[in-house]
Amino acid sequence: MDKEQKAIERLKLAAEMSETYYGKPLIVTTSGGKDSDVCIALALAAGINFEVQHNHTTADAPETVYHVRDTFRRLEAKGIKCTVNWPTYKGASVTMWSLIPQKLVPPTRLMRYCCSVLKEGGGAGRMITTGVRWAESASRRNKRGIYESLPHDLSKKIIINNDNDDKRQLFENCRLQAKRICNPIVDWTDNDVWDYIRSEHIETNPLYACGFDRVGCVGCPMAGRKGRQFEFTRYPTFERAYIRAFGKMLEERTARGLPCDWQTGTDVFHWWMEDGVLSGQIGFEEEQE
Ligand code: SF4
Repeated sequence: MDKEQKAIERLKLAAEMSETYYGKPLIVTTSGGKDSDVCIALALAAGINFEVQHNHTTADAPETVYHVRDTFRRLEAKGIKCTVNWPTYKGASVTMWSLIPQKLVPPTRLMRYCCSVLKEGGGAGRMITTGVRWAESASRRNKRGIYESLPHDLSKKIIINNDNDDKRQLFENCRLQAKRICNPIVDWTDNDVWDYIRSEHIETNPLYACGFDRVGCVGCPMAGRKGRQFEFTRYPTFERAYIRAFGKMLEERTARGLPCDWQTGTDVFHWWMEDGVLSGQIGFEEEQE
């Protein structure tokens, strides 16, 4: 069976489980990236009943927001329910910029609190799909599966890595109240994804044509130093928003009597960008101005 057919079979099983265990359609999640677009195209090809949801992170690039809107318009015209989830934290609306002062530290590769608040919410007690792929990182290769069941008690988590795994029976019959996840393209390589996009003429986020190889939040710590510099050159208003949020974070730390080596939001920004500009040091561009 080729990868497309395998992914379609996985989606069919996920849709069946969703109706059986939750009495509701499968949720196909989209971040606005290419992997999500492929999952949506596969769900359409599978002919299953599904909804689409997008978690608005508040730090998405404008092109990503417009791409999700366009995708939703096309899907809604086909009668598919599409929802944008707005983030909340401690029962109130939140943005990346109001979350940073509340968390008292900048988000980093090791402390991705922003993802759990802004990006990974929604879908509780439902069956969802994601575009997660093993090729994206060693951590995903080790921790993610074709099917996953995430009950409140994570020691009872079930991960299925093989379509013929004996545990699949256990997963299909597990009646624990849990969020279930299907990752239909988990074993696809980057080339598989791009080949499918080309062969099916799938419309993707225009940022890929502008040199982006990933389209997460602007300034995401996972994008690496060069990637983030590239992003902030393109979106200077996001740089200013982070600096303001870091400034408010410092005020909050001071108000709580917490220790702090940084003086300003700009100091935090340079530390966060790992760009070697030290506190009080004037950047070349600032000097030129
Ligand atoms: S900045 Fe990166 S880690 Fe944070 S929510 Fe966005 S994608 Fe997730």
